[in-house]
Amino acid sequence: MEMSTGGQLTATGFAGPFERARARLAAADLFPPVGHLLGWTAAVAASSYALRWLASFDGRTFTVVWLAAAPQLVALLTSRRRHWPAYLLAFAVFQYGPAWLVLGQRPDLAALSTLTAVVFAASMLHSDQDWVRGRSDSLRSWRRFVLYGVVAGPALAGVIGAISVAVGARGRTDAGALAVAALMWYLTEAVGIAFVTPVLLRWRRYWRRYSGRALLTSAGFLSLMVALGVVAAVESNFVLMFLTGVPALLVLIEFGIAAAFLQMAVGATVVLSTTFAGIGPFTAATDSPTLAMMHAQVFLLAGYAMVVLVAAALEERNRLTALDHASHEVYDLVAELTGDLVLVVDARGDILHNASAGTTTLSLRPGRIAYSEWQRHVHPDDLHVIAQRVSAGRPGASLPFRVRNRDGSWAWFVVHSRRASRGLSAAILRDVTLEHEVHASLTDMANSDALTGLANRRGLSERARGIWSRAYERDQPLTALFVDVDHFKAFNDCFGHQAGDACLRSVADVLAHLADPDSCVASRYGGEEFAVVLAGCENPYTFAEGLSSAIRALRIPHPAAPSGVVTVSVGVATVHPRDGVLFRGVDPDAAVGQLLDRADKALYAAKASGRNSISVYRDDPANRVLIGEQIHHAGERPRQAAGSGHDE
Ligand code: GH3
Ligand code: MG
Ligand code: MG
Repeated sequence: MEMSTGGQLTATGFAGPFERARARLAAADLFPPVGHLLGWTAAVAASSYALRWLASFDGRTFTVVWLAAAPQLVALLTSRRRHWPAYLLAFAVFQYGPAWLVLGQRPDLAALSTLTAVVFAASMLHSDQDWVRGRSDSLRSWRRFVLYGVVAGPALAGVIGAISVAVGARGRTDAGALAVAALMWYLTEAVGIAFVTPVLLRWRRYWRRYSGRALLTSAGFLSLMVALGVVAAVESNFVLMFLTGVPALLVLIEFGIAAAFLQMAVGATVVLSTTFAGIGPFTAATDSPTLAMMHAQVFLLAGYAMVVLVAAALEERNRLTALDHASHEVYDLVAELTGDLVLVVDARGDILHNASAGTTTLSLRPGRIAYSEWQRHVHPDDLHVIAQRVSAGRPGASLPFRVRNRDGSWAWFVVHSRRASRGLSAAILRDVTLEHEVHASLTDMANSDALTGLANRRGLSERARGIWSRAYERDQPLTALFVDVDHFKAFNDCFGHQAGDACLRSVADVLAHLADPDSCVASRYGGEEFAVVLAGCENPYTFAEGLSSAIRALRIPHPAAPSGVVTVSVGVATVHPRDGVLFRGVDPDAAVGQLLDRADKALYAAKASGRNSISVYRDDPANRVLIGEQIHHAGERPRQAAGSGHDE
């Protein structure tokens, strides 16, 4: 510890300024990895020397792509910013040095223009390392590359070129000449950067990312493009030259933008080299080889721009498709998790998408299903439940409705739906068959009597309400009958409760089959007392007589009864629901209650008359009804005449 502190003191205290500067330099880490630096410098030096050597015997070379720009840009993009001075120094020296020493050229402005374009582009693009390293091929990144690398950076080179012409004052310096000079310098840098940079950035990925078959396919497209380019050049045919863009577009659609750049680089090589060789439509169109090269370069950049634009449109489409797939996947998951049928419905009620867990009994075919088609699966009586409901997106669950199953049976469903944007609705179709059946059987249990299976009091009022409405609609009379087993206590005393129960079931069996269930309900009102409500009975007395004799005809022995068999007493009352005086403003429940009350009064009259008899309720005391030997005015008879009350 002490030793190291002493050592540090020595180092900072006694070292000379030179030592300190060296230490600071080492700490600044300004020197890039040697291999990287040497490799890229060699590439820059070689490409720049090759083109300058060409230029030494053919002046047109200056209008050729400046191939040295792309490796410089890639070297800067793939290195740390603090290493840039080292690279730029090396690039400047090796672009200028060999040209000066070997070829006797002084390309100071050319080197400056390339460095300016490259440094500007690299500063703007360096932060997007995901794109540089090929981890992302987002269109935003490639668009930034086109903006800063192909348009803005080379435009600075164009400005330098125009200034050099103006200052150098060699030949014409009018606006037109300056513009041509600017365009020439611009194109030189732009075409090189545009076509070569993507290939240098992505070449390793091409092999890794694509299968052998994909590579073979793209090689096929590449050959087609080269063949078209060569034929176009030999034939000097503009149309064929234009068609070289088609394979590039096909590669773009099939393999994406990175592959399309490779394709375009090869196409550009064909166009430029044939034009440089003095053949092809661009050469044929003008006397000036320089102009022909410029035309070819403009043509290439225009094609390049077109491919990038198409790529933008394609990527947007792919993004939307991916989103669409993702949301369909989510529907499927939701359907699987909930066990429901998940629907997307448009404003017309057509189903656009449906997803189901596969556990539901219902199966809709995938894809669009027209409203009229899926409506055919719904029970005709239930169509009103879903009419407009699904597409209107009303909150809450619908009433249950029936949908036909694959096996032809009916399942019960409810629908929940919500209106979304663009006239679409999301709907969930839930199978509630089981709940519906449970509910139906619970209702049934709650409304019926366990011993006899007839309706109980609750079931009676439930059913009587409907029968009342029916009678009202059809202007029919409504009749109530109270039926009480005679001397039943004695029957129980004689045969026991089990036999008593069996007797009640037999009586109930007679009552259950009196008339059409739509217009008649028989119930066990309590104990050994039954109530019947029926509509459309034209002669209630005869009806009651038939009922009473049917029970006598059971011939259930009853030693304690005068007749020796089980008999009943019946009280009858009839009303007309459309009787305005009695029932105006009275609801069906109250009206039925009033009717039963009258039948009850009549029953007491029947009991009082000695049992095994029928009594009809009359409001009018003059209107008498003959039952057997006895005549009753049921409306006037006091209740105590019957003895005991209802058993409830
Ligand atoms: P009446 O001729 O006046 O109707 O005489 P009754 O004996 O039939 O009438 P009461 O009201 O005095 O007795 C009714 C009897 O019905 C009493 C009760 O034990 C019997 N009872 C009520 N409910 C049941 C039942 O569920 N099963 C059996 N076995 N008997 C029942
Ligand atoms: Mg009785
Ligand atoms: Mg009774």
